[in-house]
Amino acid sequence: MALDNSQVFTIGVDLGGTSLRIAAYTPGAGVLESVTLRTRLEAGPMAVVDDMCHAILQLLNKHGNDRDFAGIGAGSPGPLELPEGRLHHPPNLPGWDSFPLLAEMEKRLQRPVILESDANAAVLAEYELGLGKDLGVDSMCMLTLGTGVGNGIILEGKLWHGATGMGGEAGHMTVYPDGALCGCGNHGCLEACASATAVVNAAERMINAGKAPGLSRLKNDGSGLTAQNLAEAARAGDADAAKIYAETGRSLGICLAGLINILNVPLYVVGGGVANSWDLLSPSLFEELERRSYVYALTAPGRAASAGMPGGGTKVLPARLGAEAGLMGACILPVYSTKPTLASA
Ligand SMILES: [Zn+2]
Repeated sequence: MALDNSQVFTIGVDLGGTSLRIAAYTPGAGVLESVTLRTRLEAGPMAVVDDMCHAILQLLNKHGNDRDFAGIGAGSPGPLELPEGRLHHPPNLPGWDSFPLLAEMEKRLQRPVILESDANAAVLAEYELGLGKDLGVDSMCMLTLGTGVGNGIILEGKLWHGATGMGGEAGHMTVYPDGALCGCGNHGCLEACASATAVVNAAERMINAGKAPGLSRLKNDGSGLTAQNLAEAARAGDADAAKIYAETGRSLGICLAGLINILNVPLYVVGGGVANSWDLLSPSLFEELERRSYVYALTAPGRAASAGMPGGGTKVLPARLGAEAGLMGACILPVYSTKPTLASA
């Protein structure tokens, strides 16, 4: 679909464990209006979908008089089974196991909805509106470091779904076989080593072992521990906080080395809140890439085998779009995907 003007609009939805964001968007002018609601997890999935669909219909009515409507896109925490649009034990949406999100949305809206995992929505936005567009690549891979670690892959211009929509779960690749317990039940997943949650947990472990007096003071000064204030402590010279970020970069580097060896795509993007600390984690990340991936060592920008690669070689960069990537991706799903009919009859 070619929708390069302001006369059409889409609705995008970003469903998170804490908040629910809904936006009306035009390809020409960007976000027209956005609404943020609290995700009422305690009220159950049916109530949350009611809230969501009520807000969608309000935006539709408000903007539908001036513009043609082009569709609804939504991003949801995974694991998400496609094309059914059913959730399976989503760690950030307790009580939503087996919930048929897509069918429940379409039943209320009486319109087709294009549903993707939030990580797929984020990589689509970075591909169409961010670094992918700037570098002119047709394939890329993105890791989103937030409460968990999301992963989205675009191959030759298309989102990679795998057989059941569950492709691109690199957040649950094992980095350390006997590492910290992950929400998925495995030990030492990337998510247990490099998410914002993992950064805070690493600090808690150091404090409990009595090894980190600076971090202990940070924890008790009233604001509590967050990935962000640990990064500030590292920049202010706290060696323990710096070590946590160096280890985070190392875990990311180990995982990305595997992804580069498998995919050989020209662009890897790291997004989410933890990627704001690129200055702290990237030195150890690149050390691991050089050590563990000969594909990276041969194809990094400036190396012999990078000649002729789109974008100028294998690039590993912090995301361009920041925290808005998931919502923007949901907004543009109807523009870049087509779905003619309701999945639920
Ligand atoms: Zn895991």
